Amino acid sequence: MDRGNPGARLGALSARLRADLDPAALLVGNELDGRVAGTWGLPRTLAARILVRPADTQGVSATLRICNELSQPVVTHGGLTGVVDGAWAESGDLILSLERMTRIEEVDVVGRTMTAQAGAPLQRVQEEAARHDLMFPLDLGARGSATIGGNAATNAGGNRVIRYGMMRALVLGLEAVLADGTVVSSMNQMLKNNAGYDLKQLFIGTEGTLGVVTRLVLRLVEAPKSQATALVAMTDFHQVTRFLSYIDGALGGTLSAYEVLWQDFYHFMCARMPAVTPPLTGVHPYYVVVEALGSDQVRDTELFESVLSDAFENKLITDAVVAKSQAERDAIWSIRDDVVQLMELKPVFLFDVSLRIRDVEAYTQGVRQRLTEAWPDQQLLVFGHLGDGNIHLAISAGAESGEARTEVERIVYEPLGGLGGSVSAEHGIGLEKKPYLPWCRTDAEIELMKSMKRTLDPNGILNPGKIFDL
Ligand SMILES: Cc1cc2nc3c(=O)[nH]c(=O)nc-3n(C[C@H](O)[C@H](O)[C@H](O)COP(=O)(O)OP(=O)(O)OC[C@H]3O[C@@H](n4cnc5c(N)ncnc54)[C@H](O)[C@@H]3O)c2cc1C
Repeated sequence: MDRGNPGARLGALSARLRADLDPAALLVGNELDGRVAGTWGLPRTLAARILVRPADTQGVSATLRICNELSQPVVTHGGLTGVVDGAWAESGDLILSLERMTRIEEVDVVGRTMTAQAGAPLQRVQEEAARHDLMFPLDLGARGSATIGGNAATNAGGNRVIRYGMMRALVLGLEAVLADGTVVSSMNQMLKNNAGYDLKQLFIGTEGTLGVVTRLVLRLVEAPKSQATALVAMTDFHQVTRFLSYIDGALGGTLSAYEVLWQDFYHFMCARMPAVTPPLTGVHPYYVVVEALGSDQVRDTELFESVLSDAFENKLITDAVVAKSQAERDAIWSIRDDVVQLMELKPVFLFDVSLRIRDVEAYTQGVRQRLTEAWPDQQLLVFGHLGDGNIHLAISAGAESGEARTEVERIVYEPLGGLGGSVSAEHGIGLEKKPYLPWCRTDAEIELMKSMKRTLDPNGILNPGKIFDL
């Protein structure tokens, strides 16, 4: 192939692919106009000029085999809701899109599993489980567009991790295609299987750098029959951590969400959402969205309300409002979840860090202080999955320049090393956090990651340049 001539290169590549794929699978040149490279982050117009969208695993395998032979870089696209530029593609890259692989193949109500193609949107998976009185517990704000394969590739977390774990805990089996086109099918449907290495974990959370996920066996649970949601106010962080232990124990295992909103975040969101009446008035330093999923609406609601009332009497909380309808529940969750409102801050830098719960308050205070020293008019909004030790920071400081971003990143990430924290709790590394991987992983860990990459993808064609440089 003529590497020096992009037109000839594209022509040779598309001719090879056309010979092996169904006609609807290949899009080239102008056929890609209007497509985006992501819904968040770097400039969004897609630079790549060739896209393959196979209908099945064989199509993915044929594509990768050809690309591997030609050393053609490949970037896999799911729903493009990733927030770390993991799906970013250069003009010479080939896009492998899972958009035609959306089939839900089977729901096994006895074994409580679902088998689906990797391009199925998360929301459709949730709805299909619900049709069988079951639940797929993963849930996040981007559920309508995010795909189940993208969720696996990023080891997505979301709002119910405290009870059900991250995506890693919700995948029983997985099929992936290696860089050379080899199909590795580990479509295990059992809860227990210790026969050798658990190969699916190679592809979960590795952001499309070791293989393309094509099908999955998902773990389902019985659909909850009751849901209780409250917004709770607190005066200090000690209350926030004590109330977490208290309510988790008192509810006997049904706590499914513990989302903390620092006051600046709560008031920012309420001010930007005129359709939502603030569920709690007054100013409180912390607000917590708590939710329990149980089996009996009357009994569980009584228990939920009595636990909150005891917490109030014992001065663990300052105020609380329990949602009395789905509309009230949606209103509470929208204040937590409607994070696109943050894009109104100009500039805005968003972070997803992880650290021990007991370190969170001192850490956020330290970040606030250092930001204020650098930019007295900075704005820091903190919120997130505190029950998982995972907080998000939205920071508006300085100009929309690379320089300001780098300085803000230093302020946010630098203290994490000493605390044993992580620069990425659930979003991954992608391109955005690549410089900071060594700030929370040892040289030996990174070298092992690189050697796995070299072994599984010796030509380095899969999502090159993401997570680390070889
Ligand atoms: C409003 C909003 C809220 C969000 N909330 C959360 C949250 O609470 N928790 C959370 O964890 N994330 C959250 N995210 C981030 C995002 O939704 C997740 O990372 C999601 O899992 C990405 O899925 P996707 O299909 O959109 O993947 P994409 O964005 O298309 O891709 C993400 C990465 O995975 C790779 N990839 C995609 N599909 C495959 C595949 N089949 N095989 C191999 N590699 C693949 C891509 O190459 C890329 O590196 C949120 C995003 C938004 C916009």
